[in-house]
Amino acid sequence: MPIACDVAIIGGGHNGLVCAFYLARAGLRVTVLERRGVVGGAAVTEEFHPGFKNSTASYTVSLLQPKIITDLKLHEYGLTIVNRRLANFLPTQDGRYLAVGEGRTKSEVAKFSSRDAERLDSYHRRLGAVSDLVRGMMLQTPPNVTASGFLAALPELLRVGRLARQMGALDLAAKRDLLALLGRSAGDYLDDWFESDPIKAVYGFDGIVGNYASPYTPGSGYVLLHHLLGEVNGQRGAWGHAIGGMGAITQAMANACAAQGVDIRLDVPVREVLVEKGRAAGVVCENGETVRARAVISNLNPKLLFQKLVDPAVLPQDFRERINTYRMGSGTLRMNVALSDLPRFTCLPEMGDHLTAGIIIAPSLAYMDQAYSDARATGWSANPVVEMLIPSTLDETLAPKGAHVASLFCQHVAPVLPDGASWDDHRDQVADLMIATVDRYAPGFAASVVARQVLTPLDLERVFGLTCGDIMHGRLELDQLFAARPVLGHGDYRMPIAGLYICGSGAHPGGGVTGAPGHNAAREVIRDLRRRRF
Ligand SMILES: Cc1cc2nc3c(=O)[nH]c(=O)nc-3n(C[C@H](O)[C@H](O)[C@H](O)COP(=O)(O)OP(=O)(O)OC[C@H]3O[C@@H](n4cnc5c(N)ncnc54)[C@H](O)[C@@H]3O)c2cc1C
Repeated sequence: MPIACDVAIIGGGHNGLVCAFYLARAGLRVTVLERRGVVGGAAVTEEFHPGFKNSTASYTVSLLQPKIITDLKLHEYGLTIVNRRLANFLPTQDGRYLAVGEGRTKSEVAKFSSRDAERLDSYHRRLGAVSDLVRGMMLQTPPNVTASGFLAALPELLRVGRLARQMGALDLAAKRDLLALLGRSAGDYLDDWFESDPIKAVYGFDGIVGNYASPYTPGSGYVLLHHLLGEVNGQRGAWGHAIGGMGAITQAMANACAAQGVDIRLDVPVREVLVEKGRAAGVVCENGETVRARAVISNLNPKLLFQKLVDPAVLPQDFRERINTYRMGSGTLRMNVALSDLPRFTCLPEMGDHLTAGIIIAPSLAYMDQAYSDARATGWSANPVVEMLIPSTLDETLAPKGAHVASLFCQHVAPVLPDGASWDDHRDQVADLMIATVDRYAPGFAASVVARQVLTPLDLERVFGLTCGDIMHGRLELDQLFAARPVLGHGDYRMPIAGLYICGSGAHPGGGVTGAPGHNAAREVIRDLRRRRF
């Protein structure tokens, strides 16, 4: 007998779990089908070497919506998020460093430029006004473009009106900033503000994280903004650490779901979305089992869903074509390393708060630009961009006493290698390069590496189902954002087959551990249910 439920959710990533929670709380019978043996998708903690565990992929928290933390009572289910003692640490090529964090940034920046130090307050005030506006949109459903007549357009017009009111409340300078950040590059924006390389590199890094682009590529301004939309324990724009790793977030979410009666099934890959009489009627699993449902919600990236799990014949041709050109590939390589000792940086050899920071090996925007050009030509750069975090400096649960774990998030490796080369043949060579790059600034680091786990873009696709290794479920570019995410005309979580929705990062507001697409999709499904659309 097939299993029956109200809603089948394909994928138990954090957004699938958030969506399941809200639907079950509204009284629906929800089944989540997850391909892996663990829930959480890209937000999981796993042991990668005996005694050493770490957040396998996603590794630092900020964007997770406070409303979701409260509604799911994540703290009651054991989630504790702590602030870094220093936000960022950037060693420079001339043997100095910049430390960025509460109460320190101004004096640190003044080491390189007193003019830049004086401009910092104004920069943060102006950027803060724009990020407050965009942050406010994260839990809203974007106005959808509809061709179904005036009645269908009316609610969308109301949404546009609300948006226009919010934008209208910005002063002229903030309106200009918003335009600049949406249309220009992070590099151009930062060059307008600052003259010294280190502060531009620390802030500009946000414009290329998970974004396979030069910091001078138009549109990278939005990616910079995207990384400022979160908060940690009320501190806006800050990034922090979940004790136990990112899996602590998703395990708490799974417990919140269980308390609402959600049926979560692990090791159950879905093969196909079942479509009957033009409606999504359930899913068929790889094991042959059918799960019938009144609605199907996908947590997968849109390309994976529509190219692998939906019969192309049931999709409108223009939608199919647009999905085929949906751009994916964030150009990131992720490593977890077990360390016998903490690194000692030549520029600051003592132990200290900088070891709790996001340590950025990319001393200037020009360096990042070059790394991107190199990767386009040859697959990676001899001078790569690496962010390193050592979460065990804040969290004793991850490594044996006295030992440590570090996350290396390496940017600007080609999602697909040129000339038909395979990541399977270059994984270790590039991993060695990343370790050697850190070692250049912290001699002895390479010797302290006891074990490592390496995830190339190809591995991210294989392990997590992230097509082209795209950590955001699709590039964060203007024609793939907001009402156009994933595709203009379907920015409201409803897909072109009745009863089929998406709730993952390929929907507004995009990637990161936010929970927002899951939250918003659940609201739209509940609305449709109340209007008896399924
Ligand atoms: C290397 C890396 C580093 C990152 N760093 C950060 C960070 O520090 N902070 C941050 O906020 N964000 C970070 N991100 C981004 C963030 O983790 C993701 O955008 C987010 O976790 C995506 O969540 P999701 O629920 O939308 O989808 P996913 O997490 O991708 O979940 C999709 C789920 O669907 C499952 N699935 C796939 N195919 C099937 C199938 N056929 N049947 C059933 N289930 C299936 C997958 O196994 C997965 O569990 C990072 C991502 C990566 C990969």
